[in-house]
Amino acid sequence: MLETKSTCPYCGVGCGVVIEHDGQQITGVRGDPDHPANFGRLCSKGINLHHTASPLVRQTQRLLTPQWRAARGGALRPSSWDMANERLAAELLRIRRQHGPEAIGFYISGQLLTEDYCAFNKLARGVIKTPHIDSNSRLCMSSAVAGYKQSLGADAPPCSYEDVEQAECILVIGANPAWAHPVLFRRLEAARAHRAGRPGQKLIVVDPRRTESAELADLHLQLQPGTDVALLHGLLHAWIWNGWVDQDFIAARTEGFDALKALVREWTPARAAQVCGLREVDLWTAAEWFARAAGSLSLYCQGLNQSSSGTAKNTALINLHLATAQIGKPGAGPFSLTGQPNAMGGREAGGMATLLPGHRDPADPAQRAEVAALWGLDASETLPGPGHTALALFEGAARGEVKALWIACTNPAQSLPDQALVRQALQRCELVVLQEAFAGTATEAYADWVLPAASWGEKEGTVTNSERRISRVRAALAPPGEARADWRIVRDVALRLEPQLRPGLAPLFRADEGPESLWLQHRETTRGRDLDIGGLSWAALDRDGPQQWPFVQGPTNRLYTDARFVFPDGRARFIAKPYQAPAERLSPQRPFALLSSRLRDQWHGMSRSGRVPTLFAHTPQPKLRLHPQDAARRGLADGDLVRVSTARGAVLLPLQLDRSLRLGAADLPMHWGPEFLRHGVNEVSAAARCPDSQQPELKFSAAQIEAV
Ligand code: SF4
Repeated sequence: MLETKSTCPYCGVGCGVVIEHDGQQITGVRGDPDHPANFGRLCSKGINLHHTASPLVRQTQRLLTPQWRAARGGALRPSSWDMANERLAAELLRIRRQHGPEAIGFYISGQLLTEDYCAFNKLARGVIKTPHIDSNSRLCMSSAVAGYKQSLGADAPPCSYEDVEQAECILVIGANPAWAHPVLFRRLEAARAHRAGRPGQKLIVVDPRRTESAELADLHLQLQPGTDVALLHGLLHAWIWNGWVDQDFIAARTEGFDALKALVREWTPARAAQVCGLREVDLWTAAEWFARAAGSLSLYCQGLNQSSSGTAKNTALINLHLATAQIGKPGAGPFSLTGQPNAMGGREAGGMATLLPGHRDPADPAQRAEVAALWGLDASETLPGPGHTALALFEGAARGEVKALWIACTNPAQSLPDQALVRQALQRCELVVLQEAFAGTATEAYADWVLPAASWGEKEGTVTNSERRISRVRAALAPPGEARADWRIVRDVALRLEPQLRPGLAPLFRADEGPESLWLQHRETTRGRDLDIGGLSWAALDRDGPQQWPFVQGPTNRLYTDARFVFPDGRARFIAKPYQAPAERLSPQRPFALLSSRLRDQWHGMSRSGRVPTLFAHTPQPKLRLHPQDAARRGLADGDLVRVSTARGAVLLPLQLDRSLRLGAADLPMHWGPEFLRHGVNEVSAAARCPDSQQPELKFSAAQIEAV
């Protein structure tokens, strides 16, 4: 029996795993006791990973050879890699020649490895010269990115998982880590079980649902959906007018406090409580616990991010940490929990329309020139500026401006909001390329080319988890059939394009390009930046195990310990953004706030977790959850078939009565696709976006719920 250490490919906790195999077959998986993210623990998804790589799944549910369609709607036919690469390169050249580089867009994924991101970024921006490369991380963490950058000067979560054990007060807001980040939550549970070691530790959970995380809380603030900014401004008001802010820290280390103070003047705790639908006394309790704790830590995720006010919610939370100096010390800080396994690595490698490698800004010509030089581009070449973010990319395709979409490791025909527009976009494109490991995703039906990609247990590279920890991903088996590593698929097309598009210039891609060389190129882009890993080597990662960035002389477990932030003057910024209600207003025609949530045992669109029958035991089928009182008022009973309709469409599914919901809220888990519901749950979800982050408001739609 052989053992290979790697990393779980699901959530951003980034647990280390030990893959048990014989070189031909993966027989088991267990938690890596040496990995600092999980110390041997795994959740239900992680412990079942080997079932997603069973011989049956690899032989019958994977894409095994390149395939193409002669015409839309026709059958897929197998192709050799040579033919696929030749024809794909020729089509990209034709579209670029006829319509310009901006007619080509890339939609990639937070599940790709950092090295895959590097390859895609070089192909898109460096070879084709299109600005349009964005990731499904746009749906996940882009509000957190914007919040950190606006408030602290860089997209850098300042905390570590050990802060969960060191905090005296933990505020969980817009997150249900008990289900979405289970191993981190086990750590929180364990810390609280030893309460004697931290007398007085408090847990506050802010969520319209009484989740399993909320069940553990000392205080659950079951607020009106979408009112987080009102709550956070109310807490700050309470502190300011009770003298609970740290005036010395504010004066010495921050800018912008007076404007924020003027903004929150009207947000008295009484008014905030009224808008949020909370008891004022509970708001005061939360205010006192957070402000007076020696260390206050915030854990947050999609409840703050997936919102038309996503950046306002993030900055309002960071304001609280700055006002009380709850940052840069043990057990303190605003800590975004990453949804995907390598959304962080994608941000570091600049695989998004609003980011360049090394956390650089594509809107800044000087920073574009730095990247061009680091990539070895000729002095005559420039990199494109900011491109379309995810939804804008598909809107551009629906308008007929974007002619080619190369989609990798994600399933937009299920996961993006406003599915009618997504279908129109995919149908209108002249070329849709799908690079994917699993067969039969919803997007496959629109693809002209389907390229089989390697999956977990078959790839080499790195990922970065929520606490900035870079871990190695390792292959135990060769990919099945003719599937290939994502970076290699990109490289082989790039090698055909470069002589045509950059004749006579030093190539960006080498024929011997591989994970290590791509990682070394990535490392060079970080030198002198906030995420500098110049002191780290591939060999050290292999030898010493996962490491947190920045890593110059050694790893860094906590940022801003010297209270110097990443702005040129070293001072953090208070951001004064007003509270705004969700984009869609409730009305007699659509009186329910439709939320979306995660299930404990499923992940994203189920393309991997959906292959494991035991993971359906917890929740076997899609159901709409509604409070019994709301159901009774409509004459609905548990199990009734209901029609959930929003401004965009409708889905039919059974009703589940659930007292954990706030009155007036309904909950539809995000995972269910077209194989369970016609067009899947995103037929009804909202596409309104945060103006700063362009993250869509997947968490709130105005909906009607009726008996069928
Ligand atoms: Fe995988 Fe996340 Fe579960 Fe860890 S907590 S085993 S990373 S799904």
